[in-house]
Amino acid sequence: VSQATVSGEAPGERRAARLQRVRARMAEMDVQALLLSHGADLPWLTGYRAMPLERLTLLVLPLEGEPVLFVPALEAPRVPDLPGEIALRPWHETEDPLSLAAAALGPGAAARVALSDRAWAVTLLGLQARLVGTSFLAASDVTGALRAVKDPFEIEVLRRAASAADGVAAALQAGEIPLAGRSEREVSREIAERLVEAGHRHVNFSIVGSGPNGASPHHDAGRRVIAPGDVVVCDFGGEWAPADGEVGYCSDITRTVVVGDPPPEVRDCYAVLEAAQAAGVAAARPGAAAEDVDRAARDVISDAGYGDRFIHRTGHGIGIEEHEDPYVVAGNRTPLVEGHAFSVEPGLYFAGRFGMRLEDIVVVGPDGPDALNRADHGLAVVGG
Ligand code: ZN
Ligand code: ZN
Ligand code: ZN
Repeated sequence: VSQATVSGEAPGERRAARLQRVRARMAEMDVQALLLSHGADLPWLTGYRAMPLERLTLLVLPLEGEPVLFVPALEAPRVPDLPGEIALRPWHETEDPLSLAAAALGPGAAARVALSDRAWAVTLLGLQARLVGTSFLAASDVTGALRAVKDPFEIEVLRRAASAADGVAAALQAGEIPLAGRSEREVSREIAERLVEAGHRHVNFSIVGSGPNGASPHHDAGRRVIAPGDVVVCDFGGEWAPADGEVGYCSDITRTVVVGDPPPEVRDCYAVLEAAQAAGVAAARPGAAAEDVDRAARDVISDAGYGDRFIHRTGHGIGIEEHEDPYVVAGNRTPLVEGHAFSVEPGLYFAGRFGMRLEDIVVVGPDGPDALNRADHGLAVVGG
């Protein structure tokens, strides 16, 4: 995907526009500075993804005046051209970067400062010690709602990521990834390899939960050997980027397959799950609330008598991070708007026996849901 054909805007322009929106929101919220350490806000705004090192990375973005990005000197070669007027200030091993960052804010200039949700506790503690009288809030209070709404370029990148993951899901459903007689770990490794072959920069996770292990939603693929009759939950995703050096976006898909003909109970449960997932997707329309998507999926499951088997929220936003705003959960009244991107992933879990989940990434389009994942939604029966 070439950036020019997607949005007609250079990445620098997109990021400069984001910077403007962030500053407008800071002014609204009476926040004098945004401090971004590692985490997704920094690449979203600057194109630079910092490694989560113990050494400090910190963008000091004041409401007015020159923003400065402090990076460990050894990381400076990895920093791409920065948008807008952001200055790069590599710091050397004998300098105290927190004092440099505090000084960049100016004395007494910052009554309220927002700091990356993912910053280390030592960064917050060090800043608090140097900025006496400053109150701190989470950067997501400023950026979360902005980052949650994807622009056309981001949607296109998410679509490419989803279709790369779809290819792996289709291979799984077609029986091209053998299950019976292999351990979960072997299958997980093959899924991960295929994600990379399909163009992912790296793999974030590759869950394979077979038989009773499928009843644990985040089961870590282990030594259990998959046997005929097993229901197998496969949930996998990675980061896909349009080019080297560009910021990547995440894929995340779950498909459930069964080894050999399933008993009627499994088929019946799956029919409920499939209907619930479709109802959740259909509810992803502009003007609905995030919690309406959860309710739509949950009602189908509750009405079928399995309400207590659906033990997690229906979904999570997705973008540069695997999990971000908006969360699809009861109580989240955030009105959905065009560009919101999130998973719809109900599941049914029967402890000690089996589990099942069905997950797609969905973008809210102008007239309704735009489901990015197209892999078949049925219960795939593979050879035993
Ligand atoms: Zn999950
Ligand atoms: Zn998932
Ligand atoms: Zn997910």
